[in-house]
Amino acid sequence: MKALTYQGRHDIRYEEVPDPVVASPTDAVVQVTAAGICGSDLHIYGGNPFSPEVGYTPGHECVGVVVETGDQVTRFRPGDRVMLPASVGCTLCPTCAAGFTARCERAKSMTDLCYGVSPQLPGSQAQALAVPYADINLVRLPEDISDEAAVVLTDNAPTAWYGCRRARISPGETVLVIGLGPVGLMAAQSAFAMGAARVLGVDLVAERRTFAATLGVEPVEGDDARAAVRDMTGGRGPDAVVEAVGSDATIQLALKAVRQAGRVSVVGVSQNEAFPLHMGLAQVKELEFAIGLCSVHYELPVLMSLTQAGRITPEVVVSHRFALSEGPAAYELFNSRADGVHKILLDPSR
Ligand SMILES: [Zn+2]
Ligand SMILES: [Zn+2]
Repeated sequence: MKALTYQGRHDIRYEEVPDPVVASPTDAVVQVTAAGICGSDLHIYGGNPFSPEVGYTPGHECVGVVVETGDQVTRFRPGDRVMLPASVGCTLCPTCAAGFTARCERAKSMTDLCYGVSPQLPGSQAQALAVPYADINLVRLPEDISDEAAVVLTDNAPTAWYGCRRARISPGETVLVIGLGPVGLMAAQSAFAMGAARVLGVDLVAERRTFAATLGVEPVEGDDARAAVRDMTGGRGPDAVVEAVGSDATIQLALKAVRQAGRVSVVGVSQNEAFPLHMGLAQVKELEFAIGLCSVHYELPVLMSLTQAGRITPEVVVSHRFALSEGPAAYELFNSRADGVHKILLDPSR
C-alpha cells in the first residue's frame, strides 16, 4: 500500500510500504478514508521526534472503514465506519477500563500510547493501518457526524475539551486561550459550551486571530500580549488560561496573565526537562497548574453529543484537503503557518 513516511527533519515521503496485518486476534485493520495532520506531527517534522528511529508512517488522527478483524474482536465487523481515538489503550489495565487510555499502565512512553510516533505503532497517514485491541480502540461513527468533524474528534477537540475541563471553567468566567490552531479554536468552542462569558485569544498569526473572532473569540492585539490581556480584563487577568502551544514563552505568558488564584491548563506538547517555574510567585498567586495528555476515550461521549446537537462544530477548523500523494507538500504548507491554513486532511484514495 501507499503511505507517508518520516525520514528526518523536513523529510516526509510518499512511498510503498508493507500492508498492515492482523497480527493478534484482538487487532483489526482499517482502511483510512480521511487522515489529519496534527500540530504535534509538526514537532516530528521539525526534527523533534518522540523516537530516534526513522522510516515509520506518521499520523494519529483518522476515520475509516474496518476491512479485517481478528478472531477475538467482538464489537466490530468489516464494513463498519469508525474513528480511531488518538490515544491507544490496552483494555486490560484499570486506568484503561475507566477510559483514561492516555495513562495506560502498560505504556512505558509516548510511543506506546499513540499511532505514528515510532515504528512500533504505524500511523494513519496511509491507505490503511492496524489497530491493536480493536474492541476499545475503535469507535463506531454515527451517520450524522461527518468525516471532517470525526477527524477533529479523534484528537484536537477532545484535547481542547480536556484542557478546558482541567482549567475548571465555570459559567460567566473569562478564559484566555493561547494558540489559535485547531486545538485552540476547539478550546474556545469548548469554553463557550461550558458557559464562559468571554474568550480571549492570543496567536502570533493575525489571520488566525481574525478567524478565531468569527467563532466569538476576542483577539488579543499588539506586541505585549500580557499587557493587552490585563487591559481587556480590567487589570485583573482571566479566570482561566488554556495553553495550546507548548513553548516556554507561551506557558510563561499563561502563568503571568492568569488572575490571582486562577487556573492554568497546558495541553500544548512540551518536551522541556527544566522549565523555569518561579515557585515564589506561583505560591503568592495561589496558582493552579495542570498539564497532561488527553485520554480521548474519556472525553469522547460528551463531545459526540455536543457535535450532534450543533453546540460545537469541529469541522470548522478543517481548511484544506490534499491527496495522500501530495502529503509532502501538505506538510510543507502546514509548517509554513500560512494565512488560512488551519487543519489539513489527507485523502488516501488519491
Ligand atoms: Zn493530533
Ligand atoms: Zn491500559
